[in-house]
Amino acid sequence: MSIRLLPKTLVNRIAAGEVVERPASVVKELVENSLDAGAAHIEVSLRDGGAAYICVTDDGGGMAHDDLALAVTRHATSKLPGDDLFAIHSLGFRGEALPSMGAVARLTITSRAADSGDADDAWSLHVAGGDQSAPKPAALACGTRVEVADLFYATPARLKFLKTTRTETARALEAVQRLAMAHPHVAFSFDADGGAPKVLAATSGDLFDARLARLAQIMGRDFADNALPITAERGEMTLTGHIGLPTLNRGLPDKQFLFVNGRPVRDKLLLGAVRGAYQDFLARNRHPLLALYLELPPREVDVNVHPAKTEVRFRDAGSVRGLIIGALRHALAEAGHRTTTTGSDFALGAMRHGTGAGATPFSSRSSSPARGLAENSLRYQAPLESTPAAGPLPGLQAVPSAAAVAEALPEDAESYPLGAARAQLHETYIVSQTADGMVIVDQHAAHERLVYETMKQALENGSVARQGLLIPEVVELDEDAAAALVSRAQELAALGLVLESFGPGSVVVRETPALLGEMDIAGLVRDLVGEIAAMGDALSLKERLQDVCSTMACHGSVRAGRRLKPDEMNALLREMEATPHSGQCNHGRPTYVELRLTDIEKLFGRR
Ligand code: ADP
Ligand code: MG
Repeated sequence: MSIRLLPKTLVNRIAAGEVVERPASVVKELVENSLDAGAAHIEVSLRDGGAAYICVTDDGGGMAHDDLALAVTRHATSKLPGDDLFAIHSLGFRGEALPSMGAVARLTITSRAADSGDADDAWSLHVAGGDQSAPKPAALACGTRVEVADLFYATPARLKFLKTTRTETARALEAVQRLAMAHPHVAFSFDADGGAPKVLAATSGDLFDARLARLAQIMGRDFADNALPITAERGEMTLTGHIGLPTLNRGLPDKQFLFVNGRPVRDKLLLGAVRGAYQDFLARNRHPLLALYLELPPREVDVNVHPAKTEVRFRDAGSVRGLIIGALRHALAEAGHRTTTTGSDFALGAMRHGTGAGATPFSSRSSSPARGLAENSLRYQAPLESTPAAGPLPGLQAVPSAAAVAEALPEDAESYPLGAARAQLHETYIVSQTADGMVIVDQHAAHERLVYETMKQALENGSVARQGLLIPEVVELDEDAAAALVSRAQELAALGLVLESFGPGSVVVRETPALLGEMDIAGLVRDLVGEIAAMGDALSLKERLQDVCSTMACHGSVRAGRRLKPDEMNALLREMEATPHSGQCNHGRPTYVELRLTDIEKLFGRR
């Protein structure tokens, strides 16, 4: 068999497979072209999820007669003037999108070059299944309109891979939203199957304000109200954007938007860095909301990894990761004990409508398929039948400042951010009075967080203080579990838990972390076994410190259901103020909600 060159139509169809995967990829490529053309308004409309018809109209620079014919030719582009693949300043550069669409669908482009003085200088060109017509005179006031009809009619096998109209429409909308987040000064509209168009009005102000306004249009007011601004630099790289407080979290990482030099990307390295930055604040199955914009010299990043251009490769990946983790951690630390407003808004709404029971704004309470620590921890946060107060508050006794502060109460306590404790309700919540309102603290969640932060600090300083048990406690397990635990004995000792083998199938615990106070040792050991089995051999306990600490805190902390004395409550509040990140528990739920007097007055119609 002899070798032959494939005909042009076939080459285009093969290449189209990579560029045009589904209607959303057509929409993405067309909107990118409109942005590259400097458009201020971009309209997108779809029929049948885009399979039947896609139309993108812009008011950008447009194309003259000769350019129009070239635009649908493979590898013809106006965007690489210097032939330098490492100096890319536009979204497009491969010159493949339009010819690919012409190869697998019926493509019509109508355009008018902005710089043409002639009144009737608009032209239209049609390509179907790779066959191209000559440009014909047309009517168009300005800019460009690209229509793509009967997508994949020339390659019907592809049609089978399309999902429902609804899914394809949603993906196309998301493609538009991603690009819109990087171009807040451009107005967008999107309509599908004759429905009411979704409009993203152009936002004004400096880039930062404009972006936040655009993010609010797309992610909701909630995000804007609970977002922290990010600005960081490292060498020639800059990172800007907005990140959500950990208490505003979701079950899916679908609201994390990352941009490199204005291009939306889905990149494992970047997402991994985000996860790393939040890992202290969120359970593994919860995800923050954020939009981050990385700018770096084009030569530092290769966007030519895949025809869809959503993957990138960094020359210095370590620096990029360091920049992101550093900037995010810093912002989260600055936020201190701030918690989302969503909680108190919800509380107020619930009071207003008298529907407090049942629903909760923190979806971690809803059943999720992953049975993780979050649920485990919730189990402990449920009130116990009855637990008499025994001894001083575990954990806090180790902190001298807490006791000292407790003495000075209650005269000036209201001037503290978390106020003076006035009551404990249902043996679960501490209610305190602040200068201008009230605070309700979830005592278990708060204490769990304090234990975690204290342990982390202690580990950084060398070791965790331990206390010996008068009577060592023997815990019966099964043989594998006991062996697994004993193999981690050294690591556990560093965390303050000293145990050793006690014949097959049992361990004996001799010392426990001092800051946990009196605790349910057998319960802790059994849960740790589960924790260690779940994490496998690859990870050290230190790397999973958050989970281990949560487990420990659950057994040692002020469980819900324990009655607290006033000075214990106040000590807990003071400790929360002094501890970074105490506004949420280790699973990203808030540890307290704050109601201001002005809000309470509104409830009673006083305002
Ligand atoms: P690329 O964007 O990679 O250059 P495309 O196939 O998407 O390749 O587009 C080819 C060329 O057609 C572009 O380089 C540009 O000059 C022109 N073009 C495409 N869309 C538009 C538009 N909406 N407005 C003005 N010019 C456009
Ligand atoms: Mg393009």
